[in-house]
Amino acid sequence: MKAILDHVGIAVRDLQAALTFYRDALGLDVDAPEEIVSQHVRAHFIATGESRLELLEATAPDSAIARYVEKHGPGLHHITLRVEDIDAALGQLKARQVRLIDEQPRPGAEGARIAFIHPSSAHGVLVELKQVAPAHARTVAPSHFVLGDVELISLSDGFFRLDGGSMFGVVPKTLWSAKARPDDRNRITLAMRPLIIRGARTMIVDAGMGDKENEKFHELYGVDRSRHLDHSLAEAGLTVEDIDIVLASHLHFDHAGGFTARDASGRLKPRFPRAQYVVRRGEWEDATHPNARTRASYLPDNYVPLADAGVLQLVDEDRSIMPGVRVRRTGGHTPHHQMIVIESGGKAAAFVADMIPTAAHLPDAWVMGYDLNPLEAMTVKHDFVREAIDRNILVFFEHDPGIAAGYLREENGKRSVIPAPINH
Ligand SMILES: [Zn+2]
Ligand SMILES: [Zn+2]
Repeated sequence: MKAILDHVGIAVRDLQAALTFYRDALGLDVDAPEEIVSQHVRAHFIATGESRLELLEATAPDSAIARYVEKHGPGLHHITLRVEDIDAALGQLKARQVRLIDEQPRPGAEGARIAFIHPSSAHGVLVELKQVAPAHARTVAPSHFVLGDVELISLSDGFFRLDGGSMFGVVPKTLWSAKARPDDRNRITLAMRPLIIRGARTMIVDAGMGDKENEKFHELYGVDRSRHLDHSLAEAGLTVEDIDIVLASHLHFDHAGGFTARDASGRLKPRFPRAQYVVRRGEWEDATHPNARTRASYLPDNYVPLADAGVLQLVDEDRSIMPGVRVRRTGGHTPHHQMIVIESGGKAAAFVADMIPTAAHLPDAWVMGYDLNPLEAMTVKHDFVREAIDRNILVFFEHDPGIAAGYLREENGKRSVIPAPINH
């Protein structure tokens, strides 16, 4: 494998004292810190040519860095090697019986994917492997957009994996594998990106997979929820209590799993305690009467408790859910699958859910094998893409691992996404 020294991590006990040396005495440039909330650490990067130094400061006593400093004192903590393909790198190391801390890559800072190698296999050095995100990727950090009077925040409930063939229907693997690299079980990585819409009220569209499933399920679907919706809500300054309306594109488990949760006694309850849940009636009927083909995707624990709790509202047709927010049936993926159209200040955005799950699904014929009515999926997508280009609609991709939202373009019959600039 080819690897480049990305940075050297240095655990510090007293940041001011460390800055007195690195910044003042050495005269190096220290970047604005980056908070890695999940690990209770603040990282201060220092440019040093091709590579960087990273001063790591604990922000809580139970942080791994705090424990490290406690045990070893401040000093060299890890080195980070940048690789092109972290999955391939980990495969190669596993084949050689190298002891890994992370068997699977996990999300790191700046949208990178990272994994640590155990020091016992690296001669006493903690080695981090890192695959950087493409320039446009915002893999897990909430992305904010302003549309007239409405604020849109794309959140993350982590990632999972589905069979690449099923995700691309009749498209040959030689074509789709260039867009989405399959793992050793032929699965590709998909994001789960619920959308917050803040206007007259606070709404969340879909809620990811949630945390009710067992280890076997997580294994089967390669679930990585090390950063999940609760983290993402917190990073956006929200809690489950803030949500007034939960709106479903449809009720498949990767969209509705996060609608319910278990309380301390194991009882199922609505995850968003103050919210009304809005579901299309046809979708509700299909989800509560699954057949052999649809059963694996419709898990009653995700939505039946909503009816029991009296927080379910069924809508029969395309209509406004709150000012500026409308639902529009797409069909195709499921007969009553719907997209959400947001309009404010003369601008428009659309949360297209499984109509166009990733940016790779833009060509008309690239519809999913999962779609119950692929021809309808193809037609409705064709018409929407035309509309999105003509009206410059900001399109949210719920499952794209790298692109939360963008504008569609078409040149010489080739469609592409221009990732949207983010208003922080
Ligand atoms: Zn679906
Ligand atoms: Zn889906």
